[in-house]
Amino acid sequence: MSEKIFRFLKEHRPETPCLVVDLDVVEHNFHVMRRALPEARIYYAMKANPAPEIIRLLHRLGARFDTASIYEIEKCLSLGIPPDDLSFGNTVKKQSHIARAFGIGVRMFAFDSEAEADKLAAAAPGADVYCRFLMSGAGADWPLSQKFGCDPAFSPDLLMRAAGLGLNPCGVSFHVGSQQRDLRQWDVGIGAAARIFEAAAARGLTLRLVNLGGGFPAQYRSSIAPVEAHGAAIEEALERHFGKDRPEILVEPGRSLPGDAGIIQAEVVLISRKSADPDARRWVYLDIGKFGGLAEVMGEAIQYRLRTPHDGTPTAAVVLAGPTCDEVDVLYDKAGYELPLALAVGDRIEFMSAGAYTSAYSSVGFNGFPPLREYYI
Ligand SMILES: *Cc1c(COP(=O)(O)O)cnc(C)c1O
Repeated sequence: MSEKIFRFLKEHRPETPCLVVDLDVVEHNFHVMRRALPEARIYYAMKANPAPEIIRLLHRLGARFDTASIYEIEKCLSLGIPPDDLSFGNTVKKQSHIARAFGIGVRMFAFDSEAEADKLAAAAPGADVYCRFLMSGAGADWPLSQKFGCDPAFSPDLLMRAAGLGLNPCGVSFHVGSQQRDLRQWDVGIGAAARIFEAAAARGLTLRLVNLGGGFPAQYRSSIAPVEAHGAAIEEALERHFGKDRPEILVEPGRSLPGDAGIIQAEVVLISRKSADPDARRWVYLDIGKFGGLAEVMGEAIQYRLRTPHDGTPTAAVVLAGPTCDEVDVLYDKAGYELPLALAVGDRIEFMSAGAYTSAYSSVGFNGFPPLREYYI
């Protein structure tokens, strides 16, 4: 599926580092998601890659959008997305931004605390709100286990409070953790959602929506289950915990739509040995690092597949580092990366499946380096 990107790189030889995204693959990934979860409304978590080309394409295909800030909301509007197709999914929002979103016409908001319910009641009276509860993040390479969400047992209290304030508490949301590789986590989240539905019903509040969040993986170094398997696991869990009383289902895929559709090409700037010991690991410095867009290598959490012009020839262990004058700008030290012994300064290497959580993370000018160049083809 990367043919088109490699042809582009060969013909145009763009300056590196650069991200090239094949929009046909984004479209394919959207259709796969649609087929895997035919009942679900799909809200693209646009923070994964907010390029206008991707937003416009997904809008044309019928996607809606989960936004993290008033700025993403305003960007969607400027691209012709109606406010009805947007949710404000961040549980941490300034009241002035809630008011601006509500004024524009956004009617769906996430919350996970009393104070946020109060802000929503004041600035978005009568809006649909869903309560996000905590998941452990087990099984995920990029867990989201502490900052967002409340104890599931606290959710009914928060939803009742929202109702009392005149909001329309419509359901719950959770996130199994990004780059989730354990299919059983869907059962944990959906089971917890069902118990919240029961507890709310016992207090006279009928809920209708379960927002399953994101978590669908991209193809990095470790093997993953295909989206179809995630769909089947979700289907089974819904059957087990809700039976005939099916809630409305919403998903917010971020990573899985643009992730495998993009490749970053970088250049080898320096290969060095730090001692006279012939067995010393080589340090390979690239023209991209943590500040150039590869922020998800933090803690070596996301491990990209690499491609070099010498693949198939003998390799040895390396430390991979970025180009900035910052000690933390090291990509991989402990993850066991090896690169060909034939690798030379000036060679171009590719980070595969780098279409998500890269371009938007690249700094505006740390050390003077410009943001990551982007091409959508
Ligand atoms: C980031 C985020 C997502 C997307 O998660 P992925 O793991 O990239 O699919 C979905 N929903 C919310 C609320 C998020 O914050």
